[in-house]
Amino acid sequence: MADQSFQKPTGTQDIHGRYQDYFWKIEKVSRAVSKQYNFEEIQTPLFENEELFIRSVGEATDIIQKEMYSFETKGGDKLVLRPEGTASVVRSYIENDFYKKPQPVKFYYIGPFFRYERPQRGRYRQFHQFGLEILGVKSAALDAQLIQALRSIFKELKLEVIFSINSLGDENCRPEYKKKLKKFLNKNKEDLCEDCQRRLKENPLRVLDCKEEECRKTIENAPQIVDHLCKACNKDFKEVLELLDELGLSYELDPFLVRGLDYYTNTVFEIFTEKEKLALGGGGRYDGLVEMLGGRETPACGGAVGIERVIEAMKKAKIKPEKEDKRVFLAQLGDSAKKRAFRLFEEFREAEIPVYETMGRDSLKSQMARADKVGAEFTLILGRQECIKNEIIIREMKTGKQETVSLDKVVEEIKERL
Ligand code: AMP
Repeated sequence: MADQSFQKPTGTQDIHGRYQDYFWKIEKVSRAVSKQYNFEEIQTPLFENEELFIRSVGEATDIIQKEMYSFETKGGDKLVLRPEGTASVVRSYIENDFYKKPQPVKFYYIGPFFRYERPQRGRYRQFHQFGLEILGVKSAALDAQLIQALRSIFKELKLEVIFSINSLGDENCRPEYKKKLKKFLNKNKEDLCEDCQRRLKENPLRVLDCKEEECRKTIENAPQIVDHLCKACNKDFKEVLELLDELGLSYELDPFLVRGLDYYTNTVFEIFTEKEKLALGGGGRYDGLVEMLGGRETPACGGAVGIERVIEAMKKAKIKPEKEDKRVFLAQLGDSAKKRAFRLFEEFREAEIPVYETMGRDSLKSQMARADKVGAEFTLILGRQECIKNEIIIREMKTGKQETVSLDKVVEEIKERL
């Protein structure tokens, strides 16, 4: 016997059982809805070159400064486990010349992401996101469609959410705003937390993101970017909001919403649960990113949602994912019956009727107990006698009523009853 027992690394989870049902449900819905809005799935590697994220996410962000799982390979490559999805999709767009495809190119992804965060409730070091990205066309309609697609996913999950929205302007109007903001923050420097005093030097916009009470108070009186948008950005933002109004999509304007990452321009948004204001996800427009990573000038927008958070929100709202739909249990008694049961199981599977079984058990009693436990509606009992007569017993579990049918017809018979 080994004298060491292992535990999973801090901030990770083994996903199984009921939790896996939630996971599966969210994956199923986000895939189906993404496809309805004409997004195509993309899977990028779980690790990428470190530089990709440093350049895109921004050096002054927590992700780059504190949270990346970086490692050097034996060959000397500096890689990281991906902390977010957009940079990889953009890298792929450039590398595969996707600009040659009809534009916009629309991708969705689902998978694990990694951030070395302080472990706390709702924060994992390996977590999962689904995300949507639209590249190649600049239009307020696409910002609105992105938000609408995300809303449809939540609607399908029966989760009440609120979108917070803001515009960050572009390279024409943002620098002027940043200057004004910096001036204001410098004046109120003593009221900012230590982190924000540093952020102020690196990127004053990030101060608006701070969750510290003292900073929140100071920020309340700060100049707002929406009052400093240039004509084009103002028009664009208005158009996005008008389209959302047209769709009947409720949102809240948050003049201090900036999102954590450097690459956003114009529309940014975050998604919260209606009651507890639990942050589920967010996104926005990132028109400069493709160029920043070495591609040609390409407008784009995207958003991502944390699956573990959505599960937490569903649990709080008492929304339960349906169980896998299995209603039949196959029990067998004796060697010949077991052999025949193996074949019968395949017949059911091919007819796409999922069937429970415990082929490893021989006692009928324990098999029946199992059938009870999993809540089977019908149990099929195949014993020695039945095998000889080419028959099988169907037991209706609720009433205890039993009848014998021909083995050759049992699949059809069950199909009719389900
Ligand atoms: P972000 O990429 O930081 O904008 O995060 C988007 C969403 O991913 C958040 O709203 C969370 O739902 C989820 N998320 C981000 N980081 C974590 C984490 N460490 N653990 C669990 N979920 C996370």
